[in-house]
Amino acid sequence: MNELPLGPDVHRTSQAVSWPNGARCAVAITFDFDAETMWLSRDTSNARRPALISHGTYAAKIAIPEILALLQEFGIKATFFVPGWTAENHTARVEQILAAGHEVGHHGYLHFWPEPDKPAEEEKEITDGLEALHKLFGLKPLGYRCPAGETTDRLIPLLQKYGFIYDSSFMDDIHPYVHSVGGKSSGVVEIPWHWSIDDVPYTVYSLRGQRAIQTNDHILNIWETEFREHHARGALFDLIMHPQAIGRLSRLAMLRRFLAFLKGFPGVWFASCGEIAQHVLAQQNKGAKA
Ligand SMILES: [Zn+2]
Repeated sequence: MNELPLGPDVHRTSQAVSWPNGARCAVAITFDFDAETMWLSRDTSNARRPALISHGTYAAKIAIPEILALLQEFGIKATFFVPGWTAENHTARVEQILAAGHEVGHHGYLHFWPEPDKPAEEEKEITDGLEALHKLFGLKPLGYRCPAGETTDRLIPLLQKYGFIYDSSFMDDIHPYVHSVGGKSSGVVEIPWHWSIDDVPYTVYSLRGQRAIQTNDHILNIWETEFREHHARGALFDLIMHPQAIGRLSRLAMLRRFLAFLKGFPGVWFASCGEIAQHVLAQQNKGAKA
């Protein structure tokens, strides 16, 4: 039998987490503030196609203020993953996010998808992103989310090397867990996600990759059922949105409906990804001492 080159976590058993103050489940409301990088990273000649990349400009111009107002209305602290390029080109918007008390995480520099055979390029995306966030805001992000769900087998050791305490790139669980490296705890918590609780597959349209734009009712049907089942299992519900997608006005109306739906459940801990990771690490340390 040919062995697939899978890491040690493949055989790890999924385990429910006990949440703070007797909460039944945890919710992380997250946004990937890609802005123009989603188009620039795939084809640098798109820099000369202004109407195309204006799709991303919308995120900074219109969506972020609308999203911040909505989060304030519900009293929710969210996590925004920001590429270094976005931080440099939409600095005032990131300052507004931070001033409102939300967490800012690392999302690469130009949103490049890492290539398994280009380790130097992969590490440079991490260091350039770190440098931008530090230079502009004096920020050392706690966590990382990979662009477009793409990673390599070097990711967790790299996050360890640069002192991150969490990652949010893997889709193998409904509970958070701590990655292992070389058979030992890496100290990097995974905040798992999935495309079904991401806005992009339902909402982003391009002439090159045509697909139907879905109705709000269709999306809410999936998100609400996903949440109900996560809540029943005491899991972590990691909702991923993109300002250029969820920031369209009808989608913001959908998000308002969805946040009201979440608030209707008992025992929900709304937390930033950093707070969730710190909680999981504290539980792990308590278990190690017991
Ligand atoms: Zn992204």
